[in-house]
Amino acid sequence: MVRYTYRLRPGRSAAAALLAEWGRCRWLWNEAVHQQKSGQKPTFVRLGKLLTEARARLPWLRAGSQVAQQQMLRDYAKALDRSFKVTRCGRPKVKSRKTSLPSLEYTARGFSIRDGRLVLPKGVTIPVVWSRELPSLPTSVRVYRDSLGHWYASFVIRREVEFHPPGQGSIGIDWGVSTTATTTDPRFDLPYLGHRKRCAAELAKAQRKMARRRRKGGPQSRGYREAQRQTARLARKATRQTVHDSQVWATRLVRTHDLIAVEDFEPAFLAKSTMARKAADAAIGAAKRVLIERATRGGRTVVLVRPAYTTMTCSSCFARAKRLELHERDFRCEVCGFADSRDRNAARVILAVAERGHVGVEDVRQSAHLLRGRGSVAV
Ligand SMILES: [Zn+2]
Repeated sequence: MVRYTYRLRPGRSAAAALLAEWGRCRWLWNEAVHQQKSGQKPTFVRLGKLLTEARARLPWLRAGSQVAQQQMLRDYAKALDRSFKVTRCGRPKVKSRKTSLPSLEYTARGFSIRDGRLVLPKGVTIPVVWSRELPSLPTSVRVYRDSLGHWYASFVIRREVEFHPPGQGSIGIDWGVSTTATTTDPRFDLPYLGHRKRCAAELAKAQRKMARRRRKGGPQSRGYREAQRQTARLARKATRQTVHDSQVWATRLVRTHDLIAVEDFEPAFLAKSTMARKAADAAIGAAKRVLIERATRGGRTVVLVRPAYTTMTCSSCFARAKRLELHERDFRCEVCGFADSRDRNAARVILAVAERGHVGVEDVRQSAHLLRGRGSVAV
């Protein structure tokens, strides 16, 4: 299952209809929450009864789409179920009018696409910005509004694995801050793109404005809220650009490679790291996610290699060098004399590990020692 998300441009009446629909669904959700609090465990049958009974009793509820309302209660049942299974996960809470964002789900019988518009029950039709083609008929759609007031439709498409023709072999990928992805083949490097720098400067400016207008305690001024909205808008713009760059890069890389060895790096998002570092980490996260998704969908072999020792191992003879300082950008092997840029060497190590059927540098060293008949591991 894959999601395809598009911007919606509802007119005034369609937007009002969506909000009214959300109001009705929210009421149902909150009814279920109250039932649960009063001691009845709302089973799926009970929730179904709640819907039938409420729709019979309340004409205003009947005016809404049954599909969206059923789906809302299904979501509630899922959330409740999760809250019992996952520790420290609270029971579903009341959705307040002020703080919850509208989100409506329609299954196949609740929506259609006609003349480029999304057609929902009760005669609501909404123009869609078709930024890319839908590959096949969607099985469901989630219509939601974000914190900026933009509406989106996220279609679910059931898609078979599509096998690409055989590629040209394998590639290793090392993640980094100044270059998001360094690969064993320089043609496939993903630079940390400059055009985002302009966006980052605008973002920093907006954040400074927000800080200036901030009041300690009490409600915030209109000027502050305006700056806050502007900051959110710029942040979203930067994210969209990052994701787009990753998609273009991943598609090109997956088309031509059979084995893709990826450093299994998880950004930490530490509170003390700078905004620039956070943005670079977010770019890595986006690229890694998109790459793995596309490669799996394309039937490619993806190997996630643990990052430990990848920068301090020689990709040519697997000898271990001393740890490099962060400013040292070049790797040089004292055993065999191999030299390359630090990141390129790391990418080559990652690929070499994956090609030997392992997921960590240590595993390769251990199996090499065992092959030599030493039995014990001396590192
Ligand atoms: Zn070496």
